[in-house]
Amino acid sequence: MIEVINPANEAVIRQLESRTAEDADAGVARAKAAFPAWKRMPPPERTRVLRHLAEKIAAEHEPLAKLESLNTGKPLACARAEIGMAIETFRYYAGACERLLGSTIPVAGGIDITFHEPLGVVALIVPWNFPFTIASWKLAPALAAGNTVVLKPAELTPLTALEFERIATAAGLPEGVINVVAGAGSVVGRRLVEHPDVAKVAFTGSTAVGREIMRRAAETIKRVTLELGGKSANVIFEDADIEAAAAAAPEAVFDNAGQDCCARSRVLVQKSVFERFMAAMEPAVKAIRVGDPMAADTVMGPLISADHRRKVAAFVPADAPVAYRGTAPAGPGYWFAPTVLAPVSNHDRAARDEIFGPVVCVIPFADEAEAVRLANETIYGLSGSIWTRDGARALRMARAIEAGVLSVNSNSSVRVPTPFGGMKQSGFGRELGPHALEHYTDIKNVFVATGES
Ligand code: NAP
Ligand code: MG
Repeated sequence: MIEVINPANEAVIRQLESRTAEDADAGVARAKAAFPAWKRMPPPERTRVLRHLAEKIAAEHEPLAKLESLNTGKPLACARAEIGMAIETFRYYAGACERLLGSTIPVAGGIDITFHEPLGVVALIVPWNFPFTIASWKLAPALAAGNTVVLKPAELTPLTALEFERIATAAGLPEGVINVVAGAGSVVGRRLVEHPDVAKVAFTGSTAVGREIMRRAAETIKRVTLELGGKSANVIFEDADIEAAAAAAPEAVFDNAGQDCCARSRVLVQKSVFERFMAAMEPAVKAIRVGDPMAADTVMGPLISADHRRKVAAFVPADAPVAYRGTAPAGPGYWFAPTVLAPVSNHDRAARDEIFGPVVCVIPFADEAEAVRLANETIYGLSGSIWTRDGARALRMARAIEAGVLSVNSNSSVRVPTPFGGMKQSGFGRELGPHALEHYTDIKNVFVATGES
């Protein structure tokens, strides 16, 4: 059984039967059977089906947001925005069915044409931090490109995925095109990765599991895309608008209680403005309202589970250099107060490992060269920010930092039409934007002899 818990009060929301490896096999079999007809469906018709699905999800925007908030503990306002982004993602890719444009290539002796062919059955394995949104980033392009899917939500947060399956069925999606199998990663997830009829695994989660998936996928030469952890830098130069950077820095790491792969969990601050920055950020941290996810003024909810809170707490031992911290309710619920560690060395464990909780390390640097070195001194390369008023420096830094998603004088990471994903051990492949479609298709090249010389 899966006991689905509300992390804000530790109450059991629902009990579900945990799906088995046989259920995974059955999901793959249904998806495989549905693939030929879904692939052959005329693209304008597939567009209509997916647009209709998007509008059916939109019709349940508020109940889905409430359910997501209940299951994850994230503030309702955040859940609303996330479900909104998922709806936009379905709308965006619905239009992609008719835009998978191949090319004609000038060659000798005939005509050469390329096609973007769907892969077949695609397994989508998603985490608990943004359950429905991250699922939509995979579902929408996979389906638009003509694949059928098996979605495995995280055991901790299966509820919106199960609602999605219900909505898709009610929207008239052909039987077998979308299959949701809610079970353990080590059982259902593993089976999907090993299954010979699964052509690709699209995964978001930890680097450790990503590594294991890549290894197992090798057996059947599955395509894999991996969106893994991060330890991103928020680099603040002395010539930046320090007050604006300090006001924005807490949200850049404490959003979703820090359970965000894009969290700017290392703030690199130029030594000449270090004290000024720390003083300017303090009121912003202390003002974060941590509490009831359903309350309108709540900014931060609890962590996802007791187990996860233990892991996060281990990064803040009694002798940790806590500069200041916010507040959090006593419990029940897996609460953790936003915590600022400073000054921290880039070699400390808290600055090296992904904490995935509301703990930020502030690290001083002397000059631009040191900022680049510190920013890149990590196995990860997902996101990051650069705060400066010097436009040339912003571009130099953006070129020098090894990360897939950067922002200048902003901490924003994801937008539906732009590519999102990591470098180094943050993974590979891109989600969102036009680039995602490449990862759900193979290119086929066809040469037609025309008798011309
Ligand atoms: P995780 O173990 O990587 O889980 C992600 C997904 O993979 C879940 O659906 C999980 O299933 C499944 N899974 C687990 N083991 C698997 C296996 N052997 N084969 C196939 N699928 C498998 O992540 P987590 O344990 O939830 O979180 C641990 C850490 O991962 C976090 O502290 C954080 O550092 C990182 N993380 C990163 C992201 C991100 O957005 N990049 C998201 C979440 C977590 P079950 O959970 O149902 O067993
Ligand atoms: Mg896990």
